[in-house]
Amino acid sequence: MNIIIFGPNGSGKGTQSELIKASFDLTHIESGDIFRGHIKGGTKLGIEAKSYIDAGELVPDEITIPMVLETLSDVTSSGWLLDGFPRNVSQAESLLRSLSESNTSLDYIIEIKLERGIAKNRIMGRRLCAKVPNHPNNLFIDAIKPISGKCRVCGSELKVRADDQDEAAINKRHDIYYDVSAGTLAGAKYFIENSSAKHINVDGTQTIEEIKQSLLTQLHR
Ligand code: AMP
Repeated sequence: MNIIIFGPNGSGKGTQSELIKASFDLTHIESGDIFRGHIKGGTKLGIEAKSYIDAGELVPDEITIPMVLETLSDVTSSGWLLDGFPRNVSQAESLLRSLSESNTSLDYIIEIKLERGIAKNRIMGRRLCAKVPNHPNNLFIDAIKPISGKCRVCGSELKVRADDQDEAAINKRHDIYYDVSAGTLAGAKYFIENSSAKHINVDGTQTIEEIKQSLLTQLHR
């Protein structure tokens, strides 16, 4: 089963991707993560990509497209979940062409929809438990609001992640995602219109559990 997932930063895309990957034993291909691996390993590609990533810009297509297509063609598991690619129309065109040339079927396109202001609040409202970082706490999500300023699960102190408070960087990423003429939503639209994959729309304002259930009932091997 092969899936592409779209969703803005703050929509819970990362959390849902982990859950889907585990439920269907898929290889999770995250373009951002592949770049981070190259940067850590000091490869030529990593050195080329770093300045763009540090500036919050897209890495040029000449670097990104071959890197992701090669990674996809190397997958040996029963399927993949592609996350972070395509992010514009030319990436979408290249991916569609490559899938067709290699006779690879795409089964689902998942789109987590969330209004931009809510997505931004969610990132800026995220709080990390000082003891157990994945205890969920967010000032702007009622279901996981901290209790008296402390972790709602264990009562520990809460911390903020510096990049969650970088409003300019969040805006820049969202500018790219929500751009319906040239950005990620344009790439998503191109793919939805030109591929035979089933399009699953999910309301990103729901809880993690509700989104997970909605996805699990709609995804079939
Ligand atoms: P992410 O972890 O998905 O937010 O990606 C981190 C960074 O990697 C992005 O801000 C971009 O600089 C770069 N990146 C990831 N995916 C792509 C892509 N499909 N096209 C261009 N740049 C990308």
